[in-house]
Amino acid sequence: MSNFDYDLFVIGAGSGGVRAARTAAATGARVAVAEDRYLGGTCVNVGCVPKKLYSYAAHFHDAFEDAHGFGWQLEQAPTFDWPTLRDNKIGEIKRLNGIYGKLLDNAGVRLINGRATVIDAHTVEVAGEQVSAEKILVAVGGWPWVPEFPGSEHTLNSNQIFDLDAFPKRFLVLGGGYIAVEFASIFNGLGAETHLVYRGELFLRGFDQEVREFTRDEMGKKGVNLHFGANIETIEKLDDGLKVTLTNGDVHEVDVVLAATGRKPHLQGLGLEQLGIELNEDASIKVNDRFETSVPSVLALGDVTGGPELTPVALAEAMHLVAHHFGEAPKAAMNYDNIATAVFCHPNIGTVGLSEEKAREKYDAIRVYSADFRPMKHTLSGSEERCLMKLIVDDASDVVVGAHMVGEEAGEVIQGIGIAVRAGLTKADFDATVGIHPTGAEEFVTMRTPTRN
Ligand code: NDP
Repeated sequence: MSNFDYDLFVIGAGSGGVRAARTAAATGARVAVAEDRYLGGTCVNVGCVPKKLYSYAAHFHDAFEDAHGFGWQLEQAPTFDWPTLRDNKIGEIKRLNGIYGKLLDNAGVRLINGRATVIDAHTVEVAGEQVSAEKILVAVGGWPWVPEFPGSEHTLNSNQIFDLDAFPKRFLVLGGGYIAVEFASIFNGLGAETHLVYRGELFLRGFDQEVREFTRDEMGKKGVNLHFGANIETIEKLDDGLKVTLTNGDVHEVDVVLAATGRKPHLQGLGLEQLGIELNEDASIKVNDRFETSVPSVLALGDVTGGPELTPVALAEAMHLVAHHFGEAPKAAMNYDNIATAVFCHPNIGTVGLSEEKAREKYDAIRVYSADFRPMKHTLSGSEERCLMKLIVDDASDVVVGAHMVGEEAGEVIQGIGIAVRAGLTKADFDATVGIHPTGAEEFVTMRTPTRN
């Protein structure tokens, strides 16, 4: 046992910080956590969890329409009550905050309310108290970033969008990443006139091109107004809303503008500069394979380190960090290949491994298998929604190096396929797998003829 007050002092009780604290405590380490906002971090409070609840709410829109073809008569057109959704969501988040508190308590971790400042390599100051620790873990996550333009102060960021007093009947989102497409789908599904404005020619940069085009078409069919190759020039406040002028000259009057233009490490006031902790070019904290910063007793993980900004990545990093620093034997570095991810736009995107474009760069020859079809459910629902499934195979080894889906519950499907891709299974393995009928997912094991090489 060290002579410090604690073996580990964690700054930030988000997904990564709480997991590291609990897991380290389970090894017998003496652990404290400082948090100045809410337990559970971005994911629980203003990210994954409330977003998914709102996405469920928005899906009912389609479900009510789809129901007619199956014989259901809705006596009157369904109406949507924003305060019910918002307040039920608030109640659920409060419940989760409590669970996080209990988890820390049960693990014997001390929770301190306050923003901690790092004083030196082994000391932090929080809530007027100086505390020493053998290791300090910075797990403070990120914060939404909004570009400056005339009227940018009238935008809301993704922290502010969940608890609106009134439902925005006219909604505009700026950006073309995860948050922009997800919130465009949510507010469109909940009944708002919805616009998405993105500066590039097609949103979701970095995703498979066919997936991006398919998603564009599907979101367009559902009624989202997509404006590509444009940015916001100005926003003016009106008596009854906001006047948004785009760089292409278009003008839209809306109630709310969400800026979903990326996130930055939330380092202000932490005191890391005075320790000379090295940063990456994007101002995230530079760490090695053991999650050590340039001051080895100060560790960092999760969004603040600039890797994939995903909760399961922070959780995995926390497990690795604890194995490295509090486990019996040093562990191998974390492997960031083939991390599956989902975008909860409507329809959902699920993806793992390489896009077709990246696979073409990496391999001499590839085979692409794809299916673009009308799901069985929509033969009766009358919905025009289609589904895309796609496998990318390295021709030489037959290994499946990428799997992509756009369609209902794509995240659920790709989570399973992700195991196969991660395990390095071949197309022959996929072909030898007997499908489950009738499902959409069976397409992943029944596509036999390459769409292109
Ligand atoms: P992203 O980095 O994904 O996207 C930011 C978007 O804003 C990009 O389209 C970018 O354009 C655009 N942008 C950046 N700067 C400007 C500017 N000056 N003017 C106009 N547009 C600009 O960030 P998000 O905010 O959407 O999400 C943050 C992260 O959170 C994601 O990367 C993801 O890792 C995580 N997340 C994950 C989710 C999930 O797992 N389902 C859900 C939500 C978030 P360009 O492409 O041209 O650079």
